[in-house]
Amino acid sequence: ATPTALMVGTGRGAQLGILIKGPEVLENTRKADTIVLDKTGTVTTGRMTLLAVHTAPTTTEEEVLRLAGALEHASEHPIARAVAAGAAEKTGPLPIPEDFANVPGLGVQGVVEGHAVLVGRTKLLAEWSMTLPVELERAKAAAEAAGRTAIAVAWDGEARAVLEVADAVKDTSAEAVRRLRALGLTPILLTGDNRAVAESVAREVGIDEVFAEVMPQDKVDVVKKLQAEGRSVAMVGDGVNDAAALAQADLGLAMGTGTDAAIEAGDLTLVRGDLLAAADAIRLSRRTLGTIK
Ligand code: ADP
Ligand code: MG
Repeated sequence: ATPTALMVGTGRGAQLGILIKGPEVLENTRKADTIVLDKTGTVTTGRMTLLAVHTAPTTTEEEVLRLAGALEHASEHPIARAVAAGAAEKTGPLPIPEDFANVPGLGVQGVVEGHAVLVGRTKLLAEWSMTLPVELERAKAAAEAAGRTAIAVAWDGEARAVLEVADAVKDTSAEAVRRLRALGLTPILLTGDNRAVAESVAREVGIDEVFAEVMPQDKVDVVKKLQAEGRSVAMVGDGVNDAAALAQADLGLAMGTGTDAAIEAGDLTLVRGDLLAAADAIRLSRRTLGTIK
């Protein structure tokens, strides 16, 4: 394409809410045949709500919400925000943790009012040799079968509760997936969340291929694996967890509503955080480069 065409394309991109890092990006956009979509915050709104609390007989809902809410209040993860907001609403002001750490892809751990507390995937509990008692395991399975995310809560060496959170698919995601397919791209869903939730979201938006329960540091390997199959991979993501995969992809598209790390790693930014703009970007670059009218 001529420099003029590239400049026009870049300018048109800005009008469509697509910020392009450099003209050469348009070339990679044109070549992409596969598009990997992060789930939380990309295909879904990422605004989760706390829907239910299941407790073991050794505790109460109020105690679970105080301790889990206090710890999650220190995290910026969408699940953490839902838990902290739900807890504050039901129990009032939350204590401040004495100690706190994020465990990427698994949850949070810390100390609240002298209790060593874990909140996150059952895999996080397993690292401390804790498993859910059978009644909580049943609650978790039922929540996941309903397409919700089940979060485990443990303290002082014992699993105490399962929290149910859910996140809505964005209104435009299914239409965006249809348009991406129409442009010849194969959509793939990629998430750290569990398989049941991932498949329920995939079904809702019309995606057949799903990589679920992928640890943050392994998202980049999924992109590499697809590239090794000879595919030209675009990746759309919003989280700190997605930054390495966005950088590895032939084309990284960052949600403008996402984290700075994702925006820095991406080749282009979808300002409105709307997946329809990903299809716009591909169509725009093909038009700019003269491969379609
Ligand atoms: P995604 O790839 O969907 O954006 P993440 O990699 O951030 O998700 O997280 C993967 C999973 O780890 C979540 O679905 C959740 O089960 C668990 N998790 C991560 N952070 C937290 C947290 N702060 N509180 C509870 N659970 C968490
Ligand atoms: Mg995400």
